[in-house]
Amino acid sequence: MSVNFRLPGPTPLPPQVITALGREMIPHRGPAFRALYSETLELAREIHRTDGDVLTWAATGSAGWEVAVVNLLSPGDPVLVAVNGNFGERFASVADRLGIDVRRLDVPWGEAVQPGQLRLALEQHRDVKAVLLVHNETSTGVTNPLRDLAATVRDHGALVVVDAVSGAGALPLEVDAWGIDFAFSGSQKAWMCPPGLLIVAAGARAWAAHQKSTYPRFFWDMREAKKWADQGMTPTTPPLSMIYAFRAALGMIAHEGVEQVWERHRQLGLMTRAGIASAGLRLFAQEGFESNSVTAFEPPPNVTAAQFLELLRRDYGVEAQGGQAHLSDRLIRVGHMGWVHEPEMRQAVAAVVDVAARLSSVGGAEPDLLQPLQARTGTA
Ligand code: PLP
Repeated sequence: MSVNFRLPGPTPLPPQVITALGREMIPHRGPAFRALYSETLELAREIHRTDGDVLTWAATGSAGWEVAVVNLLSPGDPVLVAVNGNFGERFASVADRLGIDVRRLDVPWGEAVQPGQLRLALEQHRDVKAVLLVHNETSTGVTNPLRDLAATVRDHGALVVVDAVSGAGALPLEVDAWGIDFAFSGSQKAWMCPPGLLIVAAGARAWAAHQKSTYPRFFWDMREAKKWADQGMTPTTPPLSMIYAFRAALGMIAHEGVEQVWERHRQLGLMTRAGIASAGLRLFAQEGFESNSVTAFEPPPNVTAAQFLELLRRDYGVEAQGGQAHLSDRLIRVGHMGWVHEPEMRQAVAAVVDVAARLSSVGGAEPDLLQPLQARTGTA
């Protein structure tokens, strides 16, 4: 049975990326690397729809929270964080640990942050210098209305800082047109690469904020990163294989067309949700704000996410994921971002539907059900 790898990150690697990862090392101060890195950043700018800068670090997405805070703010600065899931929660906690004066806009998990709520919160916290937003809440399968949220923040005048880790490369994201000052993402999501590269887009207002920031920093200093990036290099040794891989993946996205890539994700999201809902399973995301990169749904009553996931894995080869924090056993998350097309999503959805039907036929996860499918039916 082949594995259908449906985590909401890391995601499957396309053959072009696997080939790129196998490439030999080259001198990271030599002309070949400089050309490659310059070209990679240029493509990344196009795909982020920005004339601003794109920079990278050898890191995972979580570093983006810290990179944003230490480059754009100073200790004690008031900041508003919109929290409607576990990643917003972590963004707030990183800012708090770094000594930021964190104000929160809490929205129930599963719902989207609405511009009206954000406007009210900004009226209560007029002094905030930045608003920290999550584009796509991977923990709940909710996409926040980023364009409208960014416009609301811009009206107020604060910086728009976005965790786009599971959105960038899958969902519409127009960094310049939407007025986003700073957005970051991680290579292992819709960028179709292994974990290990942090990608940051920074615009003019982010650079102006950086000038005023008093945090001490070394590895995460975006001015230093830009100084080197302008010459096609990184301040320290770059993760060469990750740059090869990212270049290959961006080439694929550019070849397909970024809008076509967004449309493919939209179609896959629709299909996944329709199939799962048809099995009588409850989708977790608020209607109208469901993510097209990850779908979250509740297991049937009397069944834990772990039991459901075990059946998916063992009998259908589908590797999905449970929920996070207090929802760890109450949610199942199926990823459909990056290198993903209709056949594998159809198989994954059919597997979910089948597991739900098997469970409902016995009224829950009875021990009999935990027999492998072959043992019960004689088929694989
Ligand atoms: N932000 C979001 C929205 C995420 O989905 C994730 C990871 O799933 C992160 C941040 C953290 O990224 P990483 O696990 O690459 O450190």
